[in-house]
Amino acid sequence: MNLADYKGVLVYIEQRDGEIQKVSLELLGKGKELAEKLGEKLSAVVLGHNIKALANELIYHGAEKVITVDHEVLKNFTNEPYTKALTAVINNEKPAIVLVGATSIGRDIAPRVSARIHTGLTADCTSLDIDDETRNLMMTRPAFGGNIMATIICPDHRPQMSTVRPGVMLKLERNTSNTGDVIDFDAGLNAQDLNVEVLEIVKEDHKKVNIEDAKVLVSAGRGIGSKENMNPLYDLADELKGEVSGSRAVIDNAWLDKDRQVGQTGKTVRPDLYFACGISGAIQHIAGMEESELIIAINKNPDAPIFEVADLGIVGDVSKVLPLLTEELKKSKK
Ligand code: FAD
Repeated sequence: MNLADYKGVLVYIEQRDGEIQKVSLELLGKGKELAEKLGEKLSAVVLGHNIKALANELIYHGAEKVITVDHEVLKNFTNEPYTKALTAVINNEKPAIVLVGATSIGRDIAPRVSARIHTGLTADCTSLDIDDETRNLMMTRPAFGGNIMATIICPDHRPQMSTVRPGVMLKLERNTSNTGDVIDFDAGLNAQDLNVEVLEIVKEDHKKVNIEDAKVLVSAGRGIGSKENMNPLYDLADELKGEVSGSRAVIDNAWLDKDRQVGQTGKTVRPDLYFACGISGAIQHIAGMEESELIIAINKNPDAPIFEVADLGIVGDVSKVLPLLTEELKKSKK
C-alpha cells in the first residue's frame, strides 16, 4: 500500500428517510478543519434511493465534493448493500481519512467496511486532530471506563477510519454561497446484494421529552443494575410529576433513550430537585447537573464523589431506599 496515494477527508453521510442526520453535519465541520490542516479536500458520500437532492445541503455545510450512490437496494438501511457501496466508494476515492457517526447505523457499517479494506477503525472518538509532524490522524477516545483518554493512530494503513460520537463536534454555519462538485457513483449494486428483505418498518411511538424543562428529575446511574430495576425511579418521578433521566452508563446500557442523558455529552439540566440514584458523580456527569436547586444523592458508597455536590445524601441501596421514599410521599399526600 502506498500511503501517499490516499488523500483528503471523506465523511459518510447518514440519511434516514431522506433526512441528513445531525452527526453527519457535525463531522463535515470537523472534517473541514482536518482537511484544511492537511491542505486537502473534504468530500461527503451519501447512499440511498432518491437522495441526490441532499448533495447541495452537504456543500452548504462544507463538503467540496459530494459522491452519491443512488440505488433501489439502498432504499432502507441494510448492512450488506450499504457496506458494498461504501467500500466501493472508498476504493475508488482513496481518502486518507474516513469519518462515520457513531450511531447504530455507523457502528454497524464502519467495522464491516474497515475489515473489507484491511484498515483499522477507532470507534467512538470524542476528539480528532492531525499530527503536524507525521500528518497522521490522532483519534482520541475514552478508555478503561472513561478513566483515561487514549489517543490512537493508524500509521501503516489507509484510510484512517473513525466513528465519532454525536453531539461532540461542531457543524459549520450553513453557507448557501458554497459551491462544490457532485458525482453520481456506480457502486455495481444489484438486486442480489439485498440478502435481507425489509417487510415493514414499525416506528417506535416516541414520546419526546425535554428533560431540561422538568422541575423534578429522578436520575439513574449504573448502580440501578438493570433496565427492570428502573421501575422504582418511574414510580418516584410519577409521584413528584417529574421525569426520569440518567448518566451515560445508563444510556450506553440502553436502559434509557439518549435524549434523557445528563452531562457533558448529554443535556445540562437545572431542575428544582435532582435525585442522583446510583450515580458515582464523575466530572462529566456533574457538569450537567450541579446547578440544580436541590440535589439528593442515593449511593451505597459513602465516599462516592456525588456526595460532594449533593445537598442531601442517603447512604444505602437504591432499590430499598426509593420504594420507601415513594411510599412516604404517598402517605404524606393522604
Ligand atoms: P458508575 O461510575 O459505575 O457509578 C455507579 C455508582 O452506583 C457507584 O458510585 C456505586 O457505588 C453506586 N451503586 C452501585 N450499586 C448501588 C446500589 N444498589 N445502590 C446505590 N448505589 C449503588 N457521563 C455522564 O453521566 N454524562 C455525560 O454526558 C458524560 N459524558 C462523558 C464524556 C466524556 C468525554 C467522557 C470521557 C465520559 C463521559 N461520561 C459521561 C462518563 C463518566 O465519566 C462516567 O463514566 C459516568 O458518568 C458513570 O456513570 P455512573 O455514575 O452511572 O456509573
